[in-house]
Amino acid sequence: RGHLACVGLGMMLGGHLSPRSQAFIEQADVVFVAASDALVELWVQAMRPDVRSLQPYYAEGKARRQTYREMAEAILAEVRAGRRVCAAFYGHPGVFAQVPHDVVTRARAEGFQAVMEPGISAEACLYADLGIDPGRYGCQHHEATQFLIYRRVIDPSAYLVLWQIGLVGDVECRRSRGLPAHLQLLVERLADHYPLEHEVIVYEAATTPLAEHRALRLRLHALLDTELSMHSTLVVPPAMPLAADPAMRDALARATAPST
Ligand code: SAM
Repeated sequence: RGHLACVGLGMMLGGHLSPRSQAFIEQADVVFVAASDALVELWVQAMRPDVRSLQPYYAEGKARRQTYREMAEAILAEVRAGRRVCAAFYGHPGVFAQVPHDVVTRARAEGFQAVMEPGISAEACLYADLGIDPGRYGCQHHEATQFLIYRRVIDPSAYLVLWQIGLVGDVECRRSRGLPAHLQLLVERLADHYPLEHEVIVYEAATTPLAEHRALRLRLHALLDTELSMHSTLVVPPAMPLAADPAMRDALARATAPST
């Protein structure tokens, strides 16, 4: 009977894989891999020489939706054929990634057992490398293009993390690079809520043990002159203190006091 496990490889080659995810990779009949980095893919190949890369489904100019549909079909076809399938994705398979959630939901709807194993995401690395606790001031995460094309409620007293900043503005998801004019629009949107002099951080987690993470601190306006990659995540620290709500404090106190 077909079975599906979507597992996370973590961000760092050889360093972040959980024993559970590793067991799924080793014990599957068929293993697919989608890594951020050719080296990471080679590392998985060392575990399973027969691993099938999902990378060839990406193509410049091809709509990302089509790519994802094809990846999902390739994975589900093996599950339907009765195999134990493991699909390994870099980071956490369920964080800013469509295919893993999609295939797990669809496999279950078709009556197969399907599980997702968490992995160490870029988000997890970011908290460690930049010394940020999302619980301190709160933390919003958005996909950069979605952040632009929908009206969001921005809270400048919390952290704001924008994913896929290197692709910002690619509404159709056809390109592998963002356009400077699109980045300009993002900076303008942010400038409605943050001073142009506000310090932001372009973050890239290390993907091999020998590499260092990248944390480029710069003024918001200088983002336009910065080299961004597919792997850059933008962190906007809070720009204003938390605003107290005295009425709620009073209401909490009243609700705590013993009634007489
Ligand atoms: N599932 C992945 C995870 O758990 O981190 C995220 C996949 S999402 C499609 C791709 C985005 O993740 C990038 O545009 C970037 O925002 C972020 N990302 C990927 N690699 C990264 C890295 N090495 N450092 C920081 N952010 C990264």
